Amino acid sequence: MANSKLLKFWPKLLLAWVFLITPLKAVDFGWYGTSCLTMTDGETIILTDPFFTRPSFWSVLFGRTLKSDPDLIKSFLEPYQKIKNKIVIISHTHYDHILDLKNLLLMWPDATVIGPKETPLFAPPTHSRFISADTMGPVGIGKFKIRSFPAVHAPLPLGIEFAKGERTSPLPSNPDAYDFLASRSFSFSIEHPQNKIIFHPGAYLKYSHKDFPFVPDTLFVGAQGRHKTKDYLKFLKEIGAAPQKTAIVPVHHDNFFKPLGKEFSVMPLFTYETLKKELNKTPYSFNLKVAPYKGEKPQDDQS
Ligand SMILES: [Zn+2]
Repeated sequence: MANSKLLKFWPKLLLAWVFLITPLKAVDFGWYGTSCLTMTDGETIILTDPFFTRPSFWSVLFGRTLKSDPDLIKSFLEPYQKIKNKIVIISHTHYDHILDLKNLLLMWPDATVIGPKETPLFAPPTHSRFISADTMGPVGIGKFKIRSFPAVHAPLPLGIEFAKGERTSPLPSNPDAYDFLASRSFSFSIEHPQNKIIFHPGAYLKYSHKDFPFVPDTLFVGAQGRHKTKDYLKFLKEIGAAPQKTAIVPVHHDNFFKPLGKEFSVMPLFTYETLKKELNKTPYSFNLKVAPYKGEKPQDDQS
């Protein structure tokens, strides 16, 4: 009798043991320029602000049709194709944060999309797994727990407001940059047992770090070299009260008018040196890190 009980219990014990000895996988990050990032623990992948196909400055300015290249998206995301849980986070709906969403979802039809409430207008009509950042509570998928925070879009130079407004109809089939209207922006906390992350691409904030649900291990923050450095620093100074353990990782300071895969270059007003120098003038010591850039075009190696 005792033996049969043990036999029944044994598989559970084995499972518990495997669970206990298997170390939790660290979160692996990839940066593809702008605020397009991957974060994965092998079981779940989060992709933020999908933007791989980068139109030229003139295409944007003159309102030419912006095209998304499915093969290019595939070339970057192929390594993650087999990951069980797929999540796409959208901070706001400007073209440089969402242009590739439609083609991405044709490739990842089961992905859960989290973004501003009008995000489905930028997605294929067949896609149904959507969670509105406007109204969501904490969302748990795999080992990640995600929460949204209303944020403020950083102004462009000369106070220009680019494509401000709310889409009320689906994106046309031949959209230009001005069709990618955005009326609201969000930041997100992304909690994992191995890494507490804040994704804060706008870098504009009504909050101080105290409003985040935790002190982050990793803070992705939109450096946006094309804007006023002093505003960016103002935000960082508020965050600066966070302990040294927070790795501050600037993003969205690259020149995103150049195609991915070409030589990496930053926006004219941004240098890591200036940023460091300015940060050193504050009473805080910042743990500044460079994002793990994965924007080299994979197929370039094979050709
Ligand atoms: Zn924007």
